[in-house]
Order: sequence, then C-alpha cells, then structure tokens
Amino acid sequence: MTPFDAPSIRTPPPGPLSQEYLARQERYESNARTYPRYLPIAVRRAQGSYVEDVDGNVFLDFLAGAGVLSLGHNHPEVVAAVRAQLARYVHGLDFPTPVKDAFTAAQLGMLPPVLRDAMKVHFCGPTGANAVEAAIKLCKSATGRGDIIAFHGGFHGSTAGAMAVSGDVGVKQPVNNGLPGVHFLPYSYCRRCPLGLTPQECDTNCAAYFEHVLTSSQSGIPKPAAVILELVQGEGGVIPATPEFVRRVRKTTRDLDIPLIVDEVQTGCGRTGTWYAFERYGIEPDVIVASKALTGIGLPVALICYARALDGWAPGAHTGTFRGNQLAFAAGVAALEVIRRDDVLANVLARGAQLGAGLTALRECSPWVADVRGVGLMWGVELADPQTGAPAAALARAAQTAAFRAGLVVEVGGLDGCVVRLLPPLTVTATEIGQALAILTKVMSEPLVAGRAARV
Ligand code: PMP
Repeated sequence: MTPFDAPSIRTPPPGPLSQEYLARQERYESNARTYPRYLPIAVRRAQGSYVEDVDGNVFLDFLAGAGVLSLGHNHPEVVAAVRAQLARYVHGLDFPTPVKDAFTAAQLGMLPPVLRDAMKVHFCGPTGANAVEAAIKLCKSATGRGDIIAFHGGFHGSTAGAMAVSGDVGVKQPVNNGLPGVHFLPYSYCRRCPLGLTPQECDTNCAAYFEHVLTSSQSGIPKPAAVILELVQGEGGVIPATPEFVRRVRKTTRDLDIPLIVDEVQTGCGRTGTWYAFERYGIEPDVIVASKALTGIGLPVALICYARALDGWAPGAHTGTFRGNQLAFAAGVAALEVIRRDDVLANVLARGAQLGAGLTALRECSPWVADVRGVGLMWGVELADPQTGAPAAALARAAQTAAFRAGLVVEVGGLDGCVVRLLPPLTVTATEIGQALAILTKVMSEPLVAGRAARV
C-alpha cells in the first residue's frame, strides 16, 4: 500500500467514481444514512491518519471512524494479530478462549488499582448502544428500581433504551412512547448555562439542582436505578463536565446508594489522555461503558465493567449472539501492547496541547469562533453569531464542507450542529496536526466564516 503523508485533492470531491457509488447507495440504502451526506466520497482504502477515495483523493481523517480508530487505519501490528486469529477461531459466543481471557485481563488491568479487583466485565453485543442497554438493565436489576437520570445534551446511542436516555429531541420525536421513567437534568455546559447563569454568579448550581432533585420529597422523581453521565459530552458538542459538577454528582449518588454509570464509549481507551476520563476527575464510577476504541482499529466489541456488588444478574440475563468476536479480542490485546510500548497516551497529551493551541488561535480568524474546548484529542470549535450568540449551525456545516474540499475530514455536532468536532487518531503526528490546522485556519479566515458573508 502507498503510504500517504499529506492530504491531496486531485478531483474536487465527490469525484466521478464516488458519485456513482453514492448514487447507488442512495438508491439501495435507507434514508437514515448519515456521513456520506456531508462527506460525499466512496472510500477505496486507508492507512494511518489518511483515507483515499475511489477517485484518488487523499484526506486527513480527523473523524477516525467516529473516534474508533485510536491507532489509525489498519495499524500493521494489530492487523497481523487479527490475521493470525482469523486462521484460529473467529466466533465464540461467550465461551472462554485464550485470546478472550488475555483481552479481559488486559482491560481490567487498565483500570485504576482500586477498581481492578472490585469490578467484573460483561461483554455485550458489539456496539456502544448495546453496552448502554446492558448497563441500564444491570442497574435496574440490581436496585429493583426503575427510573434513570440522564443529562441534557447527552448521547448514548440509537437503540430504544439508549436513545431514551439521550438528549437529541429530533430523533426521538418520530418514535413515540420511548422508555418510561427517564428524567433529564442540566449538565455543566457553562457557555450556554441551562440555568441562565454566568460563571461569575454560578456556584455549580447544576450540581445543587441535581442534589435537590434527588433528595427532595417533592421533586416528583422516585429514587432512580442509575444516573448515566458522559464526562465529556461528545456528540453533544465536546463539552467537558466541570470537575466540581462531576465530584458532586458522584458524592450525591454514592451517599444515596444510586449507581453511577459513566458512558466512556467516546472518552474511553485513551481519548482524553488517561485510559478512562473518570481518572482525570478523580472519581470511581460503579459502571463503566466502553466500546469504540477498544480494538484500536475498528473491530466491533463492547463491554461494561461494573462493581461486583451489582452482579445480581441471573444466568442469561443479558445475552447476544455477537459477544465473542475473537478477532476483536486479538486486536484489542495487540492494540494495548502498541499503546503501552509507544506511550500513545503521552502522544495524546502532547498532540492535544498542540491541537488545542492551534484551534484557540482560530478565534483570531473570525468573531464567529465563539468557543474552543477539548481534552486530550477530543476537540470542538463552537460557532455562534457574535451579536446574538445564536448557534451558527449552517456555518459549522459550511466549514466542514470547506475543510473536506481542502482534504480534511471533520465532524459536526453539538447544539443544532454548531460545533466543528475533531477526533484524530491517538497516534496522530505533529506534522498531521499542522496540516489540519493549516486547512482550518484557511477555512475560518475565508469570508464564509470570517464574518463578512457569514449569514449563510
Ligand atoms: N455513547 C457515546 C458517548 C457515544 O458517543 C456513542 C456513539 N457516538 C454511543 C454511546 C453509541 O455507540 P454506538 O454507535 O456504537 O452504538
């Protein structure tokens, strides 16, 4: 395979071959398809941080399979481990196997020592949403309670239960009668404080409100089975929860004996610079949900780690045919070896600092760059009207398109879609970050974003 080392656009995307594939996709696949609507290419191959489309264009991939490809595309050592396993044994239900055993031990070994021996693992169907469903069921069974507390702006997946605990109203509206007993409370999104406060007036009132709701005899919400929390909301617009908010949510849930589920599907496996984001906050959750980057290169697997005291499940309480993908386990073991040997977490911190500094400088390009925030290699640039503060969703989409045409793939998320999101591979190099920043600086300085013609 040709190693790529820079974005290169030969034919403005979508090129003629991509257009053919996209037309066929439109004819055969559902209207719910997503990414190719805004990133219109058909992909031929990929390597490391780069993707090549069928027309020969090379893109720098700062979407990285929605945060899945922590080691980039097709990491050669992980691919070799998968190939070897492919010849041995592939589909394992939930039988123990040497490679599964090694994966489980390696995963538990990544937990802080205090949790390592205090938690069990359950393998779920292979997606993040499957693991969220499992976590909710586990907590309901263990507590005998039924209600769930979730937070405004959270995203936990597209299955019925996971969607029910997610914030996005648009996807719920057409699907009536979701999971009952779900209650949403404000998250510490300080830039757009749900309580209308400014940082000067605020005393982490969202945490105080959380405490009030869970302790007041008149709050209307029975003691819940669980609280589910993203420590950095990803799809919600890259919003790191404030440390005080997280500590108080943890304290209240612990005091009241309510299991705290941290959804680390996106933040986990090194994305924020620690293996799990909860380590940064100095808390210990009761349930950890993980999926996306567990294998480094995108083989599907999902799991929950949870406090042994919650293990009141009956045999077969949460089954699923695809819980034993041995290729994923082999990849996961190999990926962890690479991550340790190459000190990938140190790269996350160093490259994250570089990316954060470069993105912060974008504020000089345009008054529409309203906020730049992130942790590790999870960053967002929020665009908003400088006069009214209204979310500039169309502008974020236009910036994504302009970056794409220049050879950089980024995602859009957040309130109404006003946040340009960056999730590069955790192995991204300083040169690649430089390439991305050069493209974004140009995009944000163009009249479209810079201000003059900004009302798209
Ligand atoms: N939780 C979080 C925090 C996520 O970001 C996602 C996916 N973006 C999910 C759950 C759902 O994962 P999946 O798409 O694999 O079901």
